[in-house]
Amino acid sequence: MVKMEDMSLWYPYAQMKTKDENLHVEWAKGMKIKVKDGKELLDGVASWWCACHGYSNDELNKAAVEQMEKFSHVMLGGLTHDPVKNLAKKLVEITPEGLNHVFFSDSGSVGVEVALKMAIQYFSNKGYENKIKIVGLKGGYHGDTFKTMEVGDDPAYHGAFSNLFRDTYHIDRPTGGYDASEENVERDIAKLEEFLKEKHSEVAAFIVEPLIQAAGGFNFYSPKYLERAREICDKYDVLLIFDEVATGFGRTGKLFAMNHTNIAPDIVILGKALTGGYLGHAATIASTKVFEAFYSDKGRDAFMHGPTYMGNALTCAIGLKSMEIFERENYLEKIAAIEKQLRRRLGNIKSDKIKDVRILGVTGVIEVKESKSLKGFAKFASDRGVWLRPFYRHLYTMPPYIATEEEMDHIIDVMEDWFKL
Ligand SMILES: *Cc1c(COP(=O)(O)O)cnc(C)c1O
Repeated sequence: MVKMEDMSLWYPYAQMKTKDENLHVEWAKGMKIKVKDGKELLDGVASWWCACHGYSNDELNKAAVEQMEKFSHVMLGGLTHDPVKNLAKKLVEITPEGLNHVFFSDSGSVGVEVALKMAIQYFSNKGYENKIKIVGLKGGYHGDTFKTMEVGDDPAYHGAFSNLFRDTYHIDRPTGGYDASEENVERDIAKLEEFLKEKHSEVAAFIVEPLIQAAGGFNFYSPKYLERAREICDKYDVLLIFDEVATGFGRTGKLFAMNHTNIAPDIVILGKALTGGYLGHAATIASTKVFEAFYSDKGRDAFMHGPTYMGNALTCAIGLKSMEIFERENYLEKIAAIEKQLRRRLGNIKSDKIKDVRILGVTGVIEVKESKSLKGFAKFASDRGVWLRPFYRHLYTMPPYIATEEEMDHIIDVMEDWFKL
């Protein structure tokens, strides 16, 4: 339990009265997190999936210090600089063709807000007054700010506010996993088509987490669903938004989840691993088609948004270095090796308590039948030198990509041993 004198700090997603004391970190380096009682834990979560290089990477540290000695931050209103310009260019270069204009903000949630505002104003600038609603998927998660709570669908997170949410429709989420059959995909996508056929005149955008609905319960689905969604959105003049805050930068086995498809969204949001796990930042990247609706001689067509810390120089310098390491060190090969190991080992864990095991890229999920069978797991794991933090019915690992085969074996052993108790 958290001591009364420590109540000055309010922790996330927690009942402060009953929660356990958090582990106190002294330092973290590479795959290791050193906690106060002397233990070193192998990190199986990459700090909510953002620390893709592990911790305190020498090159990222150096990039940060070098930039800091020049300056850490200047406002992007009226001023600009190399790190932000170069990062925008780099993101345009590595994302699919057509995604050409990068708007930076300070967190994934705000990046999603920016995308939703862009979608609604896109239609407003084109003279549509009523295309203001959003369609999302059941079980989606897009952040914790007001509009992102609304387009997401997670009563366990956001139930207290559900009466406020009236401008988003949620359709049934796709089923059948990554390898869903064509019939399965058609059955699921028919729900989007039926819906838009009737309501498209009031809908601005369809937003999804491509391939993996992460925080809402790790639902995996087919790239074909995304390709069909692209066709249907085009047919009904609705923008398609991919929230790749979680799936971006290798998490699904390719650089972006959208690289599993032959299409591109109208807007994509990147966050989490964008800065190699160092600082909060997001990039909302719009297609030329979207950008052109704002690009005119009229001041009122401009996009009116500007977070204080957008394009922070320190963050952008680290983000650029992160991508350089990613490419130079062939991270996609490392990712493929970890995926293979996850498939070989995690897929073989058997227990009556397990409902399903799902693996894609460096995302390995064991879904149990009842959440109570994961109670006490975090302590079990930390006693065995591993940091993992299950939620609801999901015991998952999304480690840094620098994990060696031995380190992955250690993490998976702990997951396996839990089911042998
Ligand atoms: C984490 C997450 C967000 C929110 O990002 P923050 O940086 O926590 O605001 C949005 N969308 C998805 C898919 C996420 O996983």
